[in-house]
Amino acid sequence: MAVKNISILGSTGSVGKSTIKVIQAQKDNYNIQAITANTNWKLLAEQAILLKAKRAVIADENYFEDLKKALAGTDIEIAAGEKGLVEAAAMPADWIMAAIVGMAGLKPLMVAIEQGGVVAIANKEPLVAAGALVLDAAKKAGTIILPVDSEHNAVFQVFETDNKKSIERIILTASGGPFRKHSLEDMAKATPEQALAHPNWSMGDKISIDSATMMNKALEIIEARHLFDIEPHKIEVMIHPQSVIHSMVEYSDGSILAQMGASDMSTPITNVLGYPTRLKTPGQKLDFIQMKRLDFEALDEERFPSIRLAYDCLKEGQEACIALNAANEIAVSSFLNHKIAFLDIYKVVLNNVKNRPSGLVDTIENILLYDKSVRKQTESYIVSLDSNSANMAAKH
Ligand code: NAD
Ligand code: MG
Repeated sequence: MAVKNISILGSTGSVGKSTIKVIQAQKDNYNIQAITANTNWKLLAEQAILLKAKRAVIADENYFEDLKKALAGTDIEIAAGEKGLVEAAAMPADWIMAAIVGMAGLKPLMVAIEQGGVVAIANKEPLVAAGALVLDAAKKAGTIILPVDSEHNAVFQVFETDNKKSIERIILTASGGPFRKHSLEDMAKATPEQALAHPNWSMGDKISIDSATMMNKALEIIEARHLFDIEPHKIEVMIHPQSVIHSMVEYSDGSILAQMGASDMSTPITNVLGYPTRLKTPGQKLDFIQMKRLDFEALDEERFPSIRLAYDCLKEGQEACIALNAANEIAVSSFLNHKIAFLDIYKVVLNNVKNRPSGLVDTIENILLYDKSVRKQTESYIVSLDSNSANMAAKH
């Protein structure tokens, strides 16, 4: 196989690290072009040396000097800030992993897509907020988009493009997260530590909290709607606590095709690295005998109302989807910083989706402006929640 030029946006995160593990396990040669991180300059420098990367970029400029010192004496190029990030995404590459978390990944993702080749997308938030523009840009540039999110990678693997009209439903499976069996009373008291403890997957903080609220599955419904151009009513969510079936597609003849595997991101990452060929995963393999059984449950919309909200947002349009994502990013970080309670996350998101500002969302720039205005509004709402509860406490 010809040498592949590769970049990893968000190389120090959970998906980024798994991507490096998968790349290193292959026999083929890969030239690493750019790797990027937000603040973790130390790991970024180690990765750059290990991979002999051409360039290492730290998004937070405060850590530029640290990175510079750590890479002194090497011929690895370094850069910082949003400009550095975007330039890294623009470096010619055959395959780019988009694994930044949140809307911070939108601009670099667009730049990566515009330069052609293959872009593997883990970074789901830009798809939620700007899915149509992202996929349009890929079409125009002739870029192949490959889904990394385990559910979407599963659907991708069993999706018969030629029989798209015969697809009756896409079933996204959900583990149910750490609070699958918790009462609302218990969830009200949940701490960040409890919410971060996912039963099956080890992931970054933001997606772990999203899994606990099941907002992750809500975002994934919107993600699936864009990636597979499928009507929302054909997308269903089912609880499957073991996370073995990663998702399924049902066809008109009654056949349901599922993709299975261990709960290990190495599999979807290996799949998209090799596509259309199949490489060897360095990760876990499934053991059916040890597993013994697979369980399925209906979703409890009362305890996990985010799912319904995703369908509502899809009906209401793109502004609602951007607001859903932006308010959620703010709410999750406020929860992690102990500013709001666990159940407040949904309350904050719902309020800010309902009372979202109006604005243009026709271009990436406008989407980013709109996203910013929702974030600002959400932050003020959280402050008002805070002062309300302070008033309440004062009265008692
Ligand atoms: P993470 O928090 O572990 O890593 C995020 C990466 O993005 C890090 O390299 C970090 O340095 C970088 N980053 C964060 N903020 C940034 C900013 N403002 N500017 C530039 N870079 C920034 O997250 P993760 O769990 O690896 O998830 C990454 C994305 O993949 C998310 O969108 C998540 O929803 C999606 N995803 C993750 C998993 C998983 O197993 N972790 C599975 C499916 C989808
Ligand atoms: Mg997923």
